[in-house]
Amino acid sequence: MTYHRATLGLALASLLAAAQDPGQRAALDAVEKLAPRFREISRQIWEQPEVGWQEKQSSALLRAELEKHGFRIRSFEGMPTAFAAEWGEGRPVIGILGEYDALPGLSQEDVPERRPRVQGAPGHGCGHNLFGAASALAAVAVKERMLALGLKGTVRFYGTPAEEGGGGKIFLIRAGAFRDADVVLAWHPGDFNAADDNPYLANISARIRFRGTPAHAAGAPEAGRSALDALELTAHAVNLMREHVPQETRMHYIVTSGGAAANIVPESAEMSIIVRHPDLAELARIWERVKKCAEAGALATETKVEIEITSSYANFKRNPPLRDLLDRSLRLAGGVRYTDAERAFIEKIRATLAGREMPPLERAAEVLPPKTSLSSVSTDVGDVSWVVPVGHFTAATMPPGVPLHTWQSTACAGTEIGRKGMMVAARALTLATLELLASPDLVKQARAAFEEAMRGQTYRSLLPEDRRPGQTGH
Ligand SMILES: [Zn+2]
Ligand SMILES: [Zn+2]
Repeated sequence: MTYHRATLGLALASLLAAAQDPGQRAALDAVEKLAPRFREISRQIWEQPEVGWQEKQSSALLRAELEKHGFRIRSFEGMPTAFAAEWGEGRPVIGILGEYDALPGLSQEDVPERRPRVQGAPGHGCGHNLFGAASALAAVAVKERMLALGLKGTVRFYGTPAEEGGGGKIFLIRAGAFRDADVVLAWHPGDFNAADDNPYLANISARIRFRGTPAHAAGAPEAGRSALDALELTAHAVNLMREHVPQETRMHYIVTSGGAAANIVPESAEMSIIVRHPDLAELARIWERVKKCAEAGALATETKVEIEITSSYANFKRNPPLRDLLDRSLRLAGGVRYTDAERAFIEKIRATLAGREMPPLERAAEVLPPKTSLSSVSTDVGDVSWVVPVGHFTAATMPPGVPLHTWQSTACAGTEIGRKGMMVAARALTLATLELLASPDLVKQARAAFEEAMRGQTYRSLLPEDRRPGQTGH
């Protein structure tokens, strides 16, 4: 690993000059002093990618480091790779979320061409190696400043496993992990810097299985009841329904099993379906209709249907005071500037994405206005925002134009390009958390905005109560 210390020094010098307030300067300084170890950890997690619920080494690395800095560790039953680490006493309790799970099949070297480290193995295509390390770094930097300033309150890092389909945070909510938190901050790797002000999409993933009666398809078709027929009818009903659901709805499915041979009436068939909508309550209503499509398919074909919900995320409840806090913190945290060597690497990476619109590289150096456009993805941070005020932002860990969940983003997450974005996130989180700890008024405003966004709604995940950690995923 080589770090461009000279460049970093220069970037920090200009940031320190921009931060007029001596407190902010000291906070940025604390982040920089602690950075080397956390940058190393981000690379170690990247080198040993672990998928959801199996992040043993990744969570242990972060946990050990936080423990070393005097944080108290809380474990959660049934979730060995989840933990909370806190420092300080009493209110306010400010939480910072960290993730560290990888994606299957995205193993990749830190080179600008497709080259798996281990064929078929997982890789950090969503940059969660940077996500966890930046958040933990911020938590420790905040602790250092709390000590120096005698600030009251608690800073708490949440080690949240299995974001990619596993819904780790839903189980942490059910375990009461956020019950006493006043505000929670989170970020996500991306190809720009901006506070988030969009609702993301609530989603639900399920497996719909049909069971029929097998028979010889030519010899005794009248004796058979086809599970595949039921599946086809269900799919047809869902496709007709597209015209009569709210505009922002997304419904997509695949057939995961459709029989064994054309001359056997299929005894079993299975489809995997995902439905999304910007509002959890509306999604619940659409889902009831999808269930009717499946029941109708089974009824018409005299087969049986079983629906297994494997994952469901809530939409994100926006919080304007926290959005503004993160916007101004990001502006003090600065953007990302690439060296000539990094630019050469980036140009090679971007050349592999022909056909995509490529924004100018300089965009990574800027902080964009809060992002209000509807995002087409889902995250279990959304669920947390239904139980506690949450502020969320994106930091440029990938060059503009590089999408998440690709080998290209995996490569960047292992290099200095990714670590520069990680530092932007760590600085912004540190500044924002310290401001919250020092300003009871701001915490109150965030709470009021949360109450307003909830307006009498209560949080109820569509994930059935009897689901256990480890049973979830697409
Ligand atoms: Zn992802
Ligand atoms: Zn992610």
